[in-house]
Amino acid sequence: MNSLADLGRRFYIDGRWTEPAAPTLRDVVNPATEEPVTRVALGGRSDVDAAVLAARRAFPAYAAMPHAQRVELLRAIVAEYLRRAPRIADALTAEIGAPVALAQGAHVALGAAAANQTIALLERFQFRRPRGTTLLVHEPIGVCGLITAWNWPMFLAFLKVFPALAAGCTVVLKPSELSPLSAALFAQAIDAAGVPPGVFNLVQGDGPTVGAALAAHPEVDMVSFTGSTRGGIEVARAAAGNVKRVVQELGGKSANILLPDADFGTAVGKGIAHCFNNSGQTCVAPTRMLVPRERHEEVMALAREAAASFVVGDPRDAHTTLGPVANLEQFEKIQSLIESGQAEGAELVAGGQGRPRHLSRGYYVRPTIFANVRNDMRIAREEIFGPVLCILPYRDEDEAVAIANDSPYGLSGFIQSADLERARRVALRLRTGTVNINDPGSDPDAPIGGYKQSGNGREKGEFGLLEYLETKAVVGYRTA
Ligand code: NDP
Repeated sequence: MNSLADLGRRFYIDGRWTEPAAPTLRDVVNPATEEPVTRVALGGRSDVDAAVLAARRAFPAYAAMPHAQRVELLRAIVAEYLRRAPRIADALTAEIGAPVALAQGAHVALGAAAANQTIALLERFQFRRPRGTTLLVHEPIGVCGLITAWNWPMFLAFLKVFPALAAGCTVVLKPSELSPLSAALFAQAIDAAGVPPGVFNLVQGDGPTVGAALAAHPEVDMVSFTGSTRGGIEVARAAAGNVKRVVQELGGKSANILLPDADFGTAVGKGIAHCFNNSGQTCVAPTRMLVPRERHEEVMALAREAAASFVVGDPRDAHTTLGPVANLEQFEKIQSLIESGQAEGAELVAGGQGRPRHLSRGYYVRPTIFANVRNDMRIAREEIFGPVLCILPYRDEDEAVAIANDSPYGLSGFIQSADLERARRVALRLRTGTVNINDPGSDPDAPIGGYKQSGNGREKGEFGLLEYLETKAVVGYRTA
């Protein structure tokens, strides 16, 4: 991991690698070993100022760049990103503990897939369209502050940076202080692709300092945030001063409803694999499995078997299927929620508190399944963000829908059924931004985003691009 040691000490501002105004160094801790990998710089308000002003200066020329040229630029970034793929995967393993296969096959690959989808969209998107006598013109909103989380660092960066650049905006990216190394490599790819100075800027640092300064900055027109609901609320408050547009991609507690006619033999295992993917650190994960009361015992047995099949261990080992969680704070939060589940009377089917017996250090969590969970328990209401699944019994379809919707969140929903008509009917009753019927695979144009406290706005596809655009109506542009 030595090649990672030189990353993250400088910021990328106005097309140059820049020393922090007043450097404070912070250890990047490998969650598998609990040992520091390297130290990175945390920025301050003046670094944010420099980056925002560079983005402001670059905006008029970049906004006027022909779309075909923007397409070429974005393609060049993807090529440079892919050239760095092995190093980026190494960085993700070191900083968040992503197992090697997941780092390459999911983290790095999802970033590239999101990027290519945005490029394809830019090629076909109509920035001007007539409607009656009016011409609708989509114009870039301006300078965007992009604040990302540590759970899917590359996917989240592409999900924000690419539509912003496709729209003609200029950006300042603040990655999580917990995943700065992959972000530095991402910025290197952008630099190598020849993006004009000031169009993309990177300032590393913590949320309360750099994130808050970006959210409050009067020269920032929009802020897009992914993270906790608490963080999202703070960003929205800070952003109110100059009436910024705020897009928030926040937490979730998504229900996976197994209707009685589903194939339980596959649905239970798949649901658990999906929930535990990336060590359970995914906002859209199906963390509440809703099962018919009369099938509860059967599901418990299937779930116990599925939990035992995970290979928990060193993320550098190709056989590992469940690495550590990303940081100590996360580990402790998960432990306290597992404790609360037991204290509130949920039935422990697998796992529990503490590390797996064969591991003496590292932020490893035992694959944990709770059954007979009531929806008013903390483990059913709060985002655990670890490999912990709750199984909740339901009486009938109405009760399943009521339990699924009884959540402060509304990010995603999942339905398993052999009867497509029935699954469709239930899908339309869920108050969530996405509903997945029978593991449909990904749809590049389907937007993601939340109802209720899961956020505001959408990412991905045309709806994601529109967030970075103002819409101007030129009335009377055409005569009837
Ligand atoms: P945060 O919300 O704190 O972090 C997300 C991003 O926001 C990071 O870049 C962070 O910076 C930044 N940030 C934090 N506070 C502010 C602020 N006041 N103003 C501007 N930016 C800010 O998430 P945590 O890392 O604390 O994770 C806590 C919980 O949040 C998790 O357990 C999980 O439940 C949830 N979460 C949900 C995610 C999702 O995908 N929806 C992603 C991550 C977390 P920095 O980290 O550098 O301080």
